Amino acid sequence: MTDHTIEKGIEWEYAPSIQDTEMVSIAETYGLFINGAFVDPGEGETFATINPATEEHLALVSAAGSADIDLAVTAARNAFENVWGPMKPSERAKYLYRIARLLQERAREFAVLETLDGGKPIKESRDIDIPLVAAYFFYYAGWADKLDYAFPGIEPKPVGVAGQIIPWNFPMLMLAWKIAPALAAGNTVVLKPAETTPLTALLFAQLCNEAGLPDGVVNIVTGDGRTGAAIVDHPGIDKIAFTGSTGVGKSIRRALAGTGKKLTLELGGKGAHIVFDDAPLDQAIEGVINGIFFNQGHVCCAGSRLFVQESIRDEFLDKLRSRLDTLRVGNPLDKNTDVGAINSAAQLQRIEALVTTGRDAGVDMFQSSCELPAKGFWYAPTVFTDVSQSHRIAQEEIFGPVLATMTFRTPDEAIEKANNTPYGLSAGVWTTKGSRILWMADRLRAGVVWANTFNKFDPTSPFGGYKESGFGREGGRHGLLPYLEGPWS
Ligand code: ADP
Repeated sequence: MTDHTIEKGIEWEYAPSIQDTEMVSIAETYGLFINGAFVDPGEGETFATINPATEEHLALVSAAGSADIDLAVTAARNAFENVWGPMKPSERAKYLYRIARLLQERAREFAVLETLDGGKPIKESRDIDIPLVAAYFFYYAGWADKLDYAFPGIEPKPVGVAGQIIPWNFPMLMLAWKIAPALAAGNTVVLKPAETTPLTALLFAQLCNEAGLPDGVVNIVTGDGRTGAAIVDHPGIDKIAFTGSTGVGKSIRRALAGTGKKLTLELGGKGAHIVFDDAPLDQAIEGVINGIFFNQGHVCCAGSRLFVQESIRDEFLDKLRSRLDTLRVGNPLDKNTDVGAINSAAQLQRIEALVTTGRDAGVDMFQSSCELPAKGFWYAPTVFTDVSQSHRIAQEEIFGPVLATMTFRTPDEAIEKANNTPYGLSAGVWTTKGSRILWMADRLRAGVVWANTFNKFDPTSPFGGYKESGFGREGGRHGLLPYLEGPWS
């Protein structure tokens, strides 16, 4: 018989489990993906993308100027009018299924590259981001030849050429949320990834060619805000889909006013996470931890405001404090890592500046006692307690691993406080009472309300905001609407 007893007094050293990176090959320089081929940018300008966990240089990427955007839009227009638009919907579906299957086949490669370029833990890119990316493509492939059933009696038509601008927090997932419904509805696209995380979108461009997707259906142009603005301003674009900061979203809305271009905006958030005293506390702790520390808090729907019922405040905060110290912060390629690197030096500065406003206002806080790596961009998981509604840390999106905690006594008070924000993207409720969940969900002004869970995504479920969190929905049947002309246009 095997002896399973464990010798007492043994030191249990931590053993990292590092994901190898051999399956990823990164080119020295990347061109723009226009009309099915990588081409040099007209003005020849490039910029570097780095690994935020190590500050190592990864590659040079092209900066697209207005002339390049013009080429990309022309390619997308040709493909729309001559190939993709006239194609039988069931044929379009086949391409989307093929893309979904290739994404599954190459999932690990995409996950590792996502982690290298963006700093998120491999556990998340491997188990959440990339599987969801494939799932969104499968899901919208299914709709491609069923639009007449999705919207009966309407015969919806594609909008045309979509300009799509995405952020750096979920580079591939945001790409999937944009490209899959657009293509399923018969549109062609010009997509710009964020300047700090362009590499997986460029790998996706290669995958489009592998899938035999006709030239010009998907065009990927890299660059910073100026490239984004050139897409927004191009007269050949029929629709803009933007995910990013509220400030840029507002400027895009102003730029498009009166142009007739369609627009959807998915912007910032300051999600309320509400824990009642009857909630299963240990599960709620896990939910709250996942709500704010998932992807280093670089999540627009993060549960960044915690409302705890006053009667359990002390017990809950004690549990939270001990759980915070067990979070493993560090090398994103370590399969055990819970919290990875902050995406960029600029984002780290923004987090630090907002945390400073909280400290200057005298708000109590505790931080994880983790050791942060010397190189790269890092921020220790942080919890502010007894925050007041007027503090900037309660009002403004920090987009980092920082939680603002407040208390409430009654459900009415929870609703009033939770809705006291310019945003309206997400909320979460922890309670064992089903009726209370429904009562709360009815009153919370948030596009998504999670019950006894948080940060759960599914291709069949629409996602989007109210107020300064934007408008339009992505995911589900609703996610097709912005890419179709119909009575709702
Ligand atoms: P963040 O401040 O979190 O980086 P942004 O809203 O600036 O978020 O970025 C989201 C995306 O929008 C990125 O791809 C970025 O390059 C792009 N972007 C930034 N400024 C503009 C702009 N003025 N017009 C269009 N796109 C922009």
